[in-house]
Amino acid sequence: MYAVKLVFSSLFIIFSLTNYSEGNSASIGKYNAGCVKNSVALPETGLGYQVIRTSRKRNHGNAILVNYIKKFTRDFTKKYNANVLIADISKEGGGPILDDHSSHQSGLDADILLLHKNSVNELYTVPERESLRPVSKLNGAKNKIDFNKWASLNGELLKTAASYEEVNRIFINPAIKKHLCGKYGKESWLRKLRPWWGHDGHFHVRLSCPDDNSKCIDLESPKNIECGAGLDWWFSKEAYEKLKNKRSKPKTEKDIILPKECLE
Ligand SMILES: [Zn+2]
Repeated sequence: MYAVKLVFSSLFIIFSLTNYSEGNSASIGKYNAGCVKNSVALPETGLGYQVIRTSRKRNHGNAILVNYIKKFTRDFTKKYNANVLIADISKEGGGPILDDHSSHQSGLDADILLLHKNSVNELYTVPERESLRPVSKLNGAKNKIDFNKWASLNGELLKTAASYEEVNRIFINPAIKKHLCGKYGKESWLRKLRPWWGHDGHFHVRLSCPDDNSKCIDLESPKNIECGAGLDWWFSKEAYEKLKNKRSKPKTEKDIILPKECLE
């Protein structure tokens, strides 16, 4: 009888774990105007990753994103013996985080720190992680990589992060994309790297809407590698002017119209 009970409870545990790992999270609305029902918390430490600034409680996301982070960091550390630091995902339940992010609302966006030269496999205690911040890997003019700070493994980190089907795009500084275009040429994963201001100490992974999240508003994953003129524009005078204007316009709560399901 005991054996039967044991088998039964083991099956129950396996079923529960399977059920948990699939999750029944539902991302609703847009990446920058939405929320996530039944969000799942990424544990603060796992094989190949550590969450920084855990007191902010921004380690919640759609189950598909939490599983992706665990899978990608585990695969990466097995191959390269590196520890990946995870910054903001979403608040529990998602929604706006006005002081830091315009997106990160629907539980499908995550910020991940770029590796710093000479500390790629360093491990930190939870209190130490409170003071960790992304450190820019660019020079003073912010137009080229500073190889005193840049770990060469960052190329493989971004390549691994982009290699999963569920990844829609990754935002990264244009100067970093330019370097990777030089290093990896025409490899197709480069299409997922989208240039954006900042993103020079961390990169931002965005997943596509899960198929069964019918209220999630998706974006088409980029098709072109864009290592040429499109990328060069980001280094133009016009682009710098745009950056100046963008900085002077912060978003406010009333600019964001949330789907009604997010207000329930
Ligand atoms: Zn981000």
